[in-house]
Formats: sequence, C-alpha cells, structure tokens
Amino acid sequence: MPTVYLETFGCQMNELDSQLVSSRLRTLGYTFTPQADSADVVLYNTCSVREHAEQKVWSRLGELALRKARQPGLVVGVLGCMAEREGEGLIRRMPVVDVMAGPAELDRLPELLDNALKTRRALLAESATQHLLMTPEGIRPDLTLLRSAGQVALHGDTGRRSSTLAAAADQLELLDLSRSTSPDEHSGSAYVRITRGCNKFCTYCVVPFTRGAEVHRPPEHIIDECKRLADAGVIEITLLGQTVNHYRFEHDAATIVDGVVQPQKGRAYVHRRGVHEDPYKREKGERVTTFADLLYRIHEEVPSVRRLRFVTSYPRSFGDDVLQVIRDCPRICRYLHVPAQSGSDRMLRAMNRGYSVGEYLEFIDRARQHLHQPEIGRPLTIAGDIIVGFPGETEEDFLATADLLRRVRYKNCFIFKYSPRPGTVAHERLTDDVPDPVKRRRNYELLTLQAQISDEVSREYIGSELDVFVQSLSKRQSRRQRQTGALAATEHRSLIRLTVSAAGTHARPGDQSPHDDQGCCATHEKIEHTGPSEPEDHTLPVQMSARSDGDLIVFIDAPPGTPPDALIGSIVRVRVESASGLALHARPV
Ligand code: SAM
Ligand code: SF4
Repeated sequence: MPTVYLETFGCQMNELDSQLVSSRLRTLGYTFTPQADSADVVLYNTCSVREHAEQKVWSRLGELALRKARQPGLVVGVLGCMAEREGEGLIRRMPVVDVMAGPAELDRLPELLDNALKTRRALLAESATQHLLMTPEGIRPDLTLLRSAGQVALHGDTGRRSSTLAAAADQLELLDLSRSTSPDEHSGSAYVRITRGCNKFCTYCVVPFTRGAEVHRPPEHIIDECKRLADAGVIEITLLGQTVNHYRFEHDAATIVDGVVQPQKGRAYVHRRGVHEDPYKREKGERVTTFADLLYRIHEEVPSVRRLRFVTSYPRSFGDDVLQVIRDCPRICRYLHVPAQSGSDRMLRAMNRGYSVGEYLEFIDRARQHLHQPEIGRPLTIAGDIIVGFPGETEEDFLATADLLRRVRYKNCFIFKYSPRPGTVAHERLTDDVPDPVKRRRNYELLTLQAQISDEVSREYIGSELDVFVQSLSKRQSRRQRQTGALAATEHRSLIRLTVSAAGTHARPGDQSPHDDQGCCATHEKIEHTGPSEPEDHTLPVQMSARSDGDLIVFIDAPPGTPPDALIGSIVRVRVESASGLALHARPV
C-alpha cells in the first residue's frame, strides 16, 4: 500500500480533520511517514484564514511540481479550506495536484485517493501527455478527462448548507463517528468536535465560506465519542467549535437518517438595532441540550476524563449557566480562549462582532468572579485573539486595543496582522488602508506588551503547586535526542501521526514573535532537525513539556529512573520554581 505524508496547516479543527482522515486511511492499509521525500502520496490539509498560510502551501506545491517530474507516480492532494476556496482554479494554477477535497468532502478522501492512484498508474502505463491540454498559458491537465477518470476530485458543495434536508445528508458525521480510538492515535489527549462551520460572518473571516453553515452534532454522539476515547486511555478532551458556547441541540427537531441522528443547523446570531438577542438559551419547556448541559453531561458521564476543556468561546451569549457548570465541575479546566479582536467599538462594529468593548469586559469580569479562585489553587486563565490593522484602524483605535490587553491581562494572546481574504465583506467593501509597515509596528508593539503581561502572569505562579498534563518531550529535549539519533519511539509515533506545519502553528509561550506567521489555533510544534550529531549526555535529566489546567506550558525534568514514555499522557503534581518568559519551570512533588 502507498505511503502517505500528511502535513497540517492552521487550526485545531484542521488537526482533528487530519487525525480523522489519517486514521481512516490507516484502516484501509495506508502507512504514514513523517518524511515527505519518501512518500508516494503527499497531502496538505490547508488553512485559508490568513494569506500567509496559503502562500506556504503554494510554495510547497511549487516544489512538488519539480519532484513530480522525477517521480511521476507521486500523488498530491490538497485538503481543507484552500480546496474549498480555490476550486478548479487551484489545479489550473498547480497541475501537480491530483486530488482536492474541501472540509465538507473529507469523508470521500479514500475513494478519491484510490481513483487518483489507479489513474496515475494507468496514465504512466499509457502516456501522460495524452491527458494534457495546450493552452495559451502553457500545458495544463485536461480537467474534463481527469475528472471523468476520477483522478481529480474537486471540492465539495461550496453552497452553504442552509436547509435541514442538506444537513440530513451530512456524511461528515460518519467520519467523526467512525474515528479510531487506538492508543497510537493519541497520547492521552484528544479533540472532539461539537459543532462544524460558523454563522457569525465576521467581516474579515473566510471560515463561514470554507466550512459552511454552523451545524451542531447530536449530544449522544459527542458523549459516546468521549466515552470511547476515555476507554482507550484518553484523559484530556478538548471540545472544538468556532463558537462553542453557542452549542444547542433541539431534541424535538432532531432528524434521523438510516437510524443515525443527524447534526442540526445552528441558529443565526441576532443583533437588531443595538439590541442583542440571545438565541442560544433554553426557552421554557424546550427539550434542548445547551452548551452548559453538554459540559455537565460529559463531566458526569465520562468521569475518567480528568481534563475537559473547550475552544473557542464567543464573547456574546456566554451565560452564567456555563460558568456555574465550570465552577461546580472539578474536572472542567478553568481556561477560556475568548477572542476580543479589537479594543475599539468602532472596529468591533466594522468587524461585525456584535458586542462592544464594555460588553466584552463585562463578560471577562463575570467569568473571573465565577471562576478565579487562586486561593484554592484554581485560578482562571484567559487567552485571546487580536487583529491589528483592520481597515480604518486609527492610532486611537490601536491604543484602545493596547488598553484592552492591559485591562484583561491575558495569559497569552494571538496577535494577527489583518489579512484581506477574497470573498469576505471586508475584502469586497473596505479598503485595506493601513500600510503594512504600520500593521507590522502595531503587531510588534502588542506582542511586546503581551509578552510583558504574560511574563507577569507566569511569575504569579512561582511557589504554587499545579497538576500538569505531561504531553511530550520538550522541544529542546527532542532536538537533543534527534541530534544523538535517540528520538523516543513515542515521539516518532506522534510525528508520524501528524505533522503540523510551523507556519500553521500558534505562537506558543516563549516563541511569540513579531512575524505574522501564526496559524489560528494549532497547538503542536514542528520538531526541527538542527545541527550535527553529538553524543548523548546521559547525565542530563530528560526535559518534558506539560500543560496546566489553565493551559500554561510547564517544563519538568523526568524523575531519575522514570522512563519518559511512562510520564506522557499522565497528570503529575508539580511545584513551580521559576518562570521565564511565558513558560513555567517546575519540579514534581
Ligand atoms: N471562531 C473564533 C472566534 O471568532 O473567536 C476564531 C476562529 S478564527 C479561524 C481564528 C482567529 O484568526 C480569529 O480569532 C482572528 O483573530 C484570526 N483571523 C481570522 N480572519 C483573519 C484575517 N482575515 N486576518 C487576520 N486574522 C484573522
Ligand atoms: Fe470567523 Fe467570526 Fe466565525 Fe470566528 S466567529 S470563525 S472569526 S466568522
């Protein structure tokens, strides 16, 4: 069977999609490699949120075109948002691409790949040139021919799924339902999707176009998935959705197709003439599972999950009911990722965010009142996202955003330069009038400010005891072991499982940089191969990377005699000894 290299750009949602796709392909006999060079199939799961992430993929595809001249049997696939956004245009521009599948078509990938591999072999046996067309722009593949041969699988339904009927035909649900829970697929931690798509239409954002309308998965499916993962040894689950707190499943409106309860259309966000309506709360007498209900049920029904977290929260319609559930349930993490995007009301209106700075701050205060309890070792940490240089952003707007950062005191904040995305309202109707040097400066200034705040926040933990979830060898340790050729089997497994591009990686504590090459929400780091080999120093302790309940990164040394593999995926009590930059250094107690 062919060997596959799969690289993921962008957000946690993409990481989960990649995991689902790779576990499906694995069950069909495909094997995975962390080395693109030795693969028969190269797949890129792409992100379109910012232009930079797309540029990376274009340049990777350019490199593959050269390689395909030497290795004509190579099959190249583009998955995710770029496939959806670019459509056939992507293959016209990059004839090297054989397969495309948008986020709504991923369940079809095995079939598409199989066709592409067969056709590729057949083309090689005949003559590939028969399938090429001469055009004024040069030689292009004959799309009609290739499509009829099943070699080229174009993106899915770009129309937004707007009817219950369309949602009823939701094949993606089957992909989530059939996920593998094999211990090879996780290291004690897993993502579970609760909603797909988005209905918010922030004016800068492509997500509602690339991922379609918001649909909410049936609660039973979500809980079953959590149980299966827990049975397979997962102790940390992160629930995923673009606006998780808007989760809502109306049981009386559920549709069943072939015995399977179908995901349900999300409600539209209502914001009329300055009056915000909350369409997500439970009306009296309704049989509804709200986000608060869902969290509570997972906490109660899957007790072996010792950490339950969720991203991303939307600052509006975040009810006290959710805060109370978090407060009452000890295994739900006191961590909120709740993007503000700007500290200026004018900008928030232009972005169509549907809340004011005052309302955002009211939410932050309310969340802290309910959840910030450092005295019992349960502080609340808050992370955010900010966009600088949105059209029309003045120095005054920018300074208001800096004030917001000081006021909220995020643990960390992802700060992006505005990137105009074709098809969005901001791109079509607003002029991208903040010059790039100004965007860069604002980006840099906010990153610097946030680094100071994060540093202060980290230092508050010195001397305290925390339970941390051990995730992997630290980046430094991996590099050290790679240099000595002693990379642990576990690390190899996780590399094979998923390669997340550095370009699509969130700036993690300690590596916030003024460059706008961060993805939207990814958490993994690419492990780099640097420098010549050197003998391994067995006297040095093995450094592990862990995370606190509040998502703080914590470095610990494995106790002497404890194999690192035995620690990965477990929760360890530690005492924080120092904090440098955004990372904590701790010792097991
Ligand atoms: N749904 C989440 C929310 O609204 O809070 C965020 C999801 S979005 C994919 C991740 C982040 O990317 C956003 O919070 C925003 O800061 C950033 N982003 C989205 N579109 C962008 C654009 N066109 N330019 C720069 N940053 C953008
Ligand atoms: Fe994009 Fe806004 Fe939806 Fe988040 S809420 S995914 S920023 S449209």
